[in-house]
Amino acid sequence: MEDLSRFRVLAVHAHPDDEVLFTGGTLADMAHRGAQVRVVTATLGEEGEVIGSALQGLVASGLLGGYRARELADAAAALGVESRLLGGLGCFRDSGMAGPAHPRALVNRVEEATAAIAREVADFAPHIVLTYGPDGGYGHRDHIAVHRAVHAAVPAQQRVWWAVFDRESNYAGLEREIPQPWSRPSTQYLDNFTNVAQVRYALPPAALTAKLAAMKAHPTQIWLQEEQGAYALSNKLAMPVLDAEFYQPGQACTLEPGLSGAELLLAGVE
Ligand SMILES: [Zn+2]
Repeated sequence: MEDLSRFRVLAVHAHPDDEVLFTGGTLADMAHRGAQVRVVTATLGEEGEVIGSALQGLVASGLLGGYRARELADAAAALGVESRLLGGLGCFRDSGMAGPAHPRALVNRVEEATAAIAREVADFAPHIVLTYGPDGGYGHRDHIAVHRAVHAAVPAQQRVWWAVFDRESNYAGLEREIPQPWSRPSTQYLDNFTNVAQVRYALPPAALTAKLAAMKAHPTQIWLQEEQGAYALSNKLAMPVLDAEFYQPGQACTLEPGLSGAELLLAGVE
């Protein structure tokens, strides 16, 4: 196992839970191997839907954002990484999926977010940045805003990888009985949610264990059935727990033949 202690890795995400669903195993593995790993999250996910009846009161009481800040902190601890909120606690608000966005919403303040990300990058000087591709992973406007702000904020030589859900792996992971009370996602849903990934990051057992613990730290958002190897969001569509995460080259990346995982993401980094 190569020691990564000379590397700094920055992940920039839109909402609490994205850090674990898109990149959690990668971040845990790199942190276990000594890298300094920091997650910057742009919003508190105030517009998210909540799973189950026990925590529904968070929505009507307006407490969801604060609760999700706690979930994010617990998830980061499980992954063994640092966590920061872009601009400070509650600075940028979740924009929601559609409709008029709050005046403080991220989508209405992308230039401010860009400046805040530029400060984070100047402060941390990451060797690599992980964020979403141009479609935000599945089209959420906060994810697209984060993609744009990251790319506007970083210098041209900054290496940026885009975290994606791999189409083939997700289809293969759903070729089995779907745990109750969930449904099988449609082809249309999966094709919107997934991409044909070029980089596979295989997760060692310790990283997968940390990822599962971090998923459990988000009870408002992620419903995990660990023995079934599956999870669902509030839409109750089953998704497989995979032992790998996936990336596309975003900016200043090279796809070194024969390499994968951290060795590929960090190949040639000075
Ligand atoms: Zn999100």
